[in-house]
Amino acid sequence: MRHDPLVQALRAGTPRARVLAREDIPSGLLHDEAAGARHGQARALVLPTETPEVRETVRTCAQFGVPVVARGAGTGLSGGANAVDGCVLIGTERMNRVLEVDTDNQTAIVQPGVVNDDLKGLCAERGLWYPPDPASSAWSTIGGNVATNAGGICCVKYGVTRDYVLGIEAVVGDGTVVRLGGRTVKGVAGYDLLGLFVGSEGTLGVITEVTVRLRSRNSRPPVTVVGFFDSLTAAGEAVVSVTASAATPAALELVDRHCLRAVEAWKRMGMDPNAAVLLLARSDAPADAAEEEARVLLDCFRSAGASWAERSTDPVEAEALFEARRLAYPALARLGPVLTEDVCVPRGHVPEMLAHIEEISAAWGTPVANIAHAGDGNLHPLIMTPGSDAVAMDRVHHVFDAIMDAAIALGGTVTGEHGIGLLKRDGMRREMSSAVLSLQRSVKQALDPQSRFNPGKLVP
Ligand SMILES: Cc1cc2nc3c(=O)[nH]c(=O)nc-3n(C[C@H](O)[C@H](O)[C@H](O)COP(=O)(O)OP(=O)(O)OC[C@H]3O[C@@H](n4cnc5c(N)ncnc54)[C@H](O)[C@@H]3O)c2cc1C
Repeated sequence: MRHDPLVQALRAGTPRARVLAREDIPSGLLHDEAAGARHGQARALVLPTETPEVRETVRTCAQFGVPVVARGAGTGLSGGANAVDGCVLIGTERMNRVLEVDTDNQTAIVQPGVVNDDLKGLCAERGLWYPPDPASSAWSTIGGNVATNAGGICCVKYGVTRDYVLGIEAVVGDGTVVRLGGRTVKGVAGYDLLGLFVGSEGTLGVITEVTVRLRSRNSRPPVTVVGFFDSLTAAGEAVVSVTASAATPAALELVDRHCLRAVEAWKRMGMDPNAAVLLLARSDAPADAAEEEARVLLDCFRSAGASWAERSTDPVEAEALFEARRLAYPALARLGPVLTEDVCVPRGHVPEMLAHIEEISAAWGTPVANIAHAGDGNLHPLIMTPGSDAVAMDRVHHVFDAIMDAAIALGGTVTGEHGIGLLKRDGMRREMSSAVLSLQRSVKQALDPQSRFNPGKLVP
C-alpha cells in the first residue's frame, strides 16, 4: 500500500531516508539466515542515514502504535531480525560511516551499519585492531554484533563484543535519544544499562552509534598448530587438555568431516576428504613464546590421540584452513536447510557434549555436522534437514531440543553467541528458573513498556 498513511507519515518525518512501502520490500530483507524461524510481513522499511531519522521513525511508529524491528546485515542465526507482522523495519545499511578513529585513546566511533571487516581494515591502516571476529565478519554489522554480543574465533583469548563496547547511542521509548557509557575504559555510575543493551537483540531500542575500544595491531604472523583426530571425542579431549595447560591460544576451532567435505566440494581447497575431525589452534604470542606455546598445543593434541598433528610451516596453508572454518556454515547450507545450534558448555565437558551430540544424531536418524569455537566450549551442531516433510521436520526439532537439554544438563547454556531470537525462546525457558525469567520480563517491561521494539523475540 503505497498510500498507507504510515508510509506517508514516515516519508514526511524523514525526507532524507529511503522509505519502502510493504509491496516494495525485497523478501530477503524480511528475515535473517536462521532456517526454520518464521517471519511476518513488514508494513514499511526505513533506511536512514543519521540518528534523527531513526528518532523520527520511532516517534512515528509510536504514534501509529506499530512495532519496530532493527536490522543489520541479516546474518543472524536465531530469527532475531525477522519482521513481525505490521512492523516497520529499520535497516542500518546506509548508516555505515566510521565517524572517528582515535589512535591516542585506541577507540573508534561508528554508525551501526559499519561492516565488521571494514572497521578492522580501517583500524589496521592505523596500526590498530578491533578484535571481535564472528565468522560472518565480512558481512555482519557492528550494530548487529553489539545487539547479539557476537563472539568469534579469537574470543577464546581476546573476549567477546561486550568487552570492546565503551558506549552507545540508542533511540528508546517513544523516540528519545540516549547515550549509555562513553569513551572511558572504566565507569560504574548507576546500573549497567550499557551492558544490558549489549546482547539485547533489538528488544530495548535501536542502536544508532557505537564507541568501541581497540588494541594495538599485532604484526607478528601467528603460529598455527593443526591436528586431525579420528573421533569428535578425541578432539574434545584435546580441548580439555589445552584449557588446563599453560597455553593461551588466540584460536581453538573444530571442524568435522561433514563440514570439511562440504567446503571441499564447494571450494576445492585440497583438503583430506577422509579426515574425521580437524582442530586448529593459533598462537600470536611473541616469537619464542609462540614457538613454546605451539609445542604445548602439539603435546596436548598428541596426548589426546591425534592421528596427525604438526605446527604449520606454510602461512598460506594455515590461513586456508581458517578460511575453510569460516566457510563451513555457508558450505553446508548450500546443500540444504541447516538448523544451527549454539550451545556452550563448561570447557571440561566438551568431550561429553560432543558424545551426546553423536548419540542424539544416531537416535533420531538425523545427520548433525559440527563446527565449534571449541576453546570456548561453544559448539555449533548443524542439524541437516533430511527432507521438508512433517516427519523429518519433527525429528529435526527433537534433535534441536535434545541437544539444548544435554547442554543444560552439563551446566551449559542454549546460546553462547547467536542469541535467543525466535528459535531459542523455548530453550531459554528450559534453561532459566521461573524467578529469573520473571526478572528478564521485568527488564523488558521497564525499558519498553509498550513492547514496541522487536516484540516476540528474546523474552519468552
Ligand atoms: C556464516 C556465518 C557465520 C557466523 N559466525 C558467527 C560467529 O562466529 N560468532 C557469532 O557471534 N555469530 C556468528 N554468526 C551470526 C551473526 O553473524 C551474528 O549474530 C551477527 O552479530 C549478526 O549481525 P548482523 O549485522 O547480520 O545482524 P542482524 O542479523 O541483522 O540482526 C541481529 C540482531 O540484532 C538486532 N539489531 C541489528 N542491528 C541493530 C541495531 N542497530 N540496534 C538494535 N538492534 C539491532 C536485530 O534486531 C536482531 O535481533 C554467523 C552467521 C553466519 C551466517
